[in-house]
Amino acid sequence: METNTRRDFIKTTLTASLAVAIGSPVLLNGGAALAAVIPTEGTTGFAPLKFTQKPLKYAFNALEPNIDALTMDIHYTKHHAAYVKNVNDAIAAENIPYKTEADFFNNASKLSAKARNNGGGAWNHNFFFETLKAGASTGPEGKLKDAIVKSFGSVDKFKEQFSAAAASRFGSGWAWLVNDKGTLKICSTANQDNPLFDNAEVKGVPLLGLDVWEHAYYLKYQNKRADYIANWWNVVDWGVVSKRM
Ligand code: MN
Repeated sequence: METNTRRDFIKTTLTASLAVAIGSPVLLNGGAALAAVIPTEGTTGFAPLKFTQKPLKYAFNALEPNIDALTMDIHYTKHHAAYVKNVNDAIAAENIPYKTEADFFNNASKLSAKARNNGGGAWNHNFFFETLKAGASTGPEGKLKDAIVKSFGSVDKFKEQFSAAAASRFGSGWAWLVNDKGTLKICSTANQDNPLFDNAEVKGVPLLGLDVWEHAYYLKYQNKRADYIANWWNVVDWGVVSKRM
């Protein structure tokens, strides 16, 4: 009895509050007025940003022997999936207002550690996995190759410098090739940071990224990060890298 009374009270109060909140138009043209004041998904600025995990374009074992199937499986289904879930949880729990991934990373320095780390993890792994492919890797061509040669002297020198950045990143992190207004630069970031972050040391459009967290190689390579890096070049999809120029 008491519960029913309370429920009725809440219902009446909510109805009254809604009427006050939306004002008299609801009395004149009900549905249309409601639609106008209660934003739904797809209308301006109400839907929260949602990160998604892009499907892999190859099987877990497709990158063998360079990257083993078990590592790929765990990396994609456990690590990457968790980053995506956790960043979306943080966006909802913290009412994070940014509408696009670009906007989100432009404000990375203002985010909570949970949002920042998992948002970076969600984005970085989509970027990383889509840059890999089965079969023999070719090498940079066309405009990308020209830009690499112009910035680093040769493709081999670029690979050397990029590998060194990946090998020398202390602890967990990433190595990156970025396009900074036509000049290509190599850098590395800690944790799940990336060059899109507003507080990144080197900023630019990411062209290539290498995950050097131990979870990316330890099952097969153990402490031999340099071997992982050397073999990773064998599965880079240069066509994808070119399209990012
Ligand atoms: Mn990873």
